[in-house]
Amino acid sequence: MFELCFRTQFSGAAQRWIEVICGSMFSGKTEELIRRLKRARIANQRVQIFKPQKDIRYEITNVVSHDENSVESIPVATSLGILDHIRDVNVVGIDEAQFFDEKLPDVCQKLAIKGIRVIVAGLDMDFRGRPFGPIPHLLAVAEYITKVHAICPHCGNLATHSFRLSQEQDTVVLGEKDKYEPRCRLCFEMGNILDLKSI
Ligand SMILES: [Zn+2]
Repeated sequence: MFELCFRTQFSGAAQRWIEVICGSMFSGKTEELIRRLKRARIANQRVQIFKPQKDIRYEITNVVSHDENSVESIPVATSLGILDHIRDVNVVGIDEAQFFDEKLPDVCQKLAIKGIRVIVAGLDMDFRGRPFGPIPHLLAVAEYITKVHAICPHCGNLATHSFRLSQEQDTVVLGEKDKYEPRCRLCFEMGNILDLKSI
């Protein structure tokens, strides 16, 4: 059962809100999540980090950003699993949130009501440019939203989309620079035409 004995170690009121960091691939979402979590730790706040079990691109127990700035994390199979693992903490970070199920917004709200600062990072759009998993719902209920951007390698504009370079059609295909490229809105819409030009 989820029971939280809330005890503040630092002075001041409980932080009971949700922050969402979203954007395309290679936009620095995880780096920003790690930056905020490290800053909380420096302030002696207790921190826990979760990620979906299906994200196995890197080490199982670490949230790792592309610059290899890692923070230890707990892999969970479902969003409700977060509640089973929660300890007496001030801040909860959730990475790769787009891979979680539709109950994640409720879980985040439950944590926030208990007096926890919840920081969620995830892709806002899938490779087709459609809203991804529970992220749109989270954006609706969050107090703070940060949209980070990559740079489009074709034109230098801000990249908001994750263009899939491979032909796979499943919504969830794990990969890095071998399978995805950040693109601006126009270059994303031009799709494979750009690939042909670059050959
Ligand atoms: Zn572009």
